[in-house]
Amino acid sequence: MFQQLAARLQEAIDRLRGRGRITEEDLKGTLREIRRALIEADVNLEVARAFVEEVRERALGRKVLESLTPAEVVLATVYEALKEALGGEPKHPQLKDRNVWFLVGLQGSGKTTTAAKLALYYKGKGRRPLLVAADTQRPAAREQLRVLGEKVGVPVLEVQDGESPESIRRRVEERARLEVRDLVLVDTAGRLQIDERLMEELVRLKAALRPDEVLLVLDAMTGQEALSVAQAFDERVGVTGLVLTKLDGDARGGAALSARRVTGKPIYFAGVSERPEGLEPFYPDRLAGRILGMGDVATLAEKVRQAGLEAEAPKSAKELTLEDFLKQMQNLKRLGSFSELLKLLPGVGRALPQGFQVDERAFKRLEAIVLSMTPEERKDPRILNASRRRRIAKGSGTTVQEVNRLVKAFEETKALMKSLERRKGRGLMGMFRR
Ligand code: GDP
Repeated sequence: MFQQLAARLQEAIDRLRGRGRITEEDLKGTLREIRRALIEADVNLEVARAFVEEVRERALGRKVLESLTPAEVVLATVYEALKEALGGEPKHPQLKDRNVWFLVGLQGSGKTTTAAKLALYYKGKGRRPLLVAADTQRPAAREQLRVLGEKVGVPVLEVQDGESPESIRRRVEERARLEVRDLVLVDTAGRLQIDERLMEELVRLKAALRPDEVLLVLDAMTGQEALSVAQAFDERVGVTGLVLTKLDGDARGGAALSARRVTGKPIYFAGVSERPEGLEPFYPDRLAGRILGMGDVATLAEKVRQAGLEAEAPKSAKELTLEDFLKQMQNLKRLGSFSELLKLLPGVGRALPQGFQVDERAFKRLEAIVLSMTPEERKDPRILNASRRRRIAKGSGTTVQEVNRLVKAFEETKALMKSLERRKGRGLMGMFRR
């Protein structure tokens, strides 16, 4: 997701790495690059400006924290600003005993697909959805929903050509009552562009059905364009929340990052594939973390919890030893594709020097290095002077460079854990144990 933006932001921040102090000049350069990265990602100009301003203020306010490196300060502030721009705390539609939700949007945005996805998602949560194919002019649109409804095992009520809003309301109510349906998902008509007649039709249908939520479905690939569409729909029909589709594609990020400020509406869900399962609740913090390569901490924690590995985790950065580090890698390896998981892991993914590939063979070498150390060395690699490193390389059949790289990755991970602990009150390993 947002690969280009992610790469550019990380690059801008990485430039500050290794600096003990940060000057106004350094910060200016980094902020300029952040701004450029945002604009290239098609973020709204005003939003990009406000974003950079916020990072500047926050970063300057934190300069006094001597315990953090400048790169960490900027990383943390950019993370917070990203999370904020994406909507802050995650928001979900309120579910009542009975619910009527509209899905509105342009044709091709993914509206019908999203209706089916929502039906499946909430069916999985024990709800009894009813899909309504409400395009009174395009039989093909209704046919599409009928097919999708069958696929996800949710009934579909189809309106008739030219049917009145009042008649639609009566039929929907009756069907919902008879079949005890508590979540009515109305797939409204879509057109290729904003169209006055369509808007009028939606307003009339809304007056008749009185939906609790009007979800606007937006194609994230269309960037800023999506936001003017959102404003038009909101002015005429009233929108309560957004669904961004096609985030699995090469959307640059502009729509997602600008939506909250431009429209004032929360993003409820993200479409991440064409399949009916491809819908996720939208989590600003997770996405912000992913964009910065800090790892999808929550997802990782979930996976680790599921695998039941909590007990093996050490308590804090201070207590982390090389053995734990190795064990963590081993655990992660058990969980699935190693490189995928490394990306999810805050610290480790970024701390590993470039080209530090950990496949099975490389892992064996790392293990050999650690096994060649004395218990004291594993606990505190700071005591590893040149002659100790030579001894370890020889003992493990590796090179001093390899030993150096492992120790460096370990130290950087430890440092990142420490700063995460300070920021969040719990460390990398704490996340495992949650
Ligand atoms: P509608 O005209 O707004 O109802 O749009 P559709 O539901 O027909 O979707 C238009 C196209 O976008 C279809 O080919 C969908 O499969 C595709 N699509 C919808 N949502 C997503 C998504 O989240 N990811 C991807 N990759 N494709 C999607």
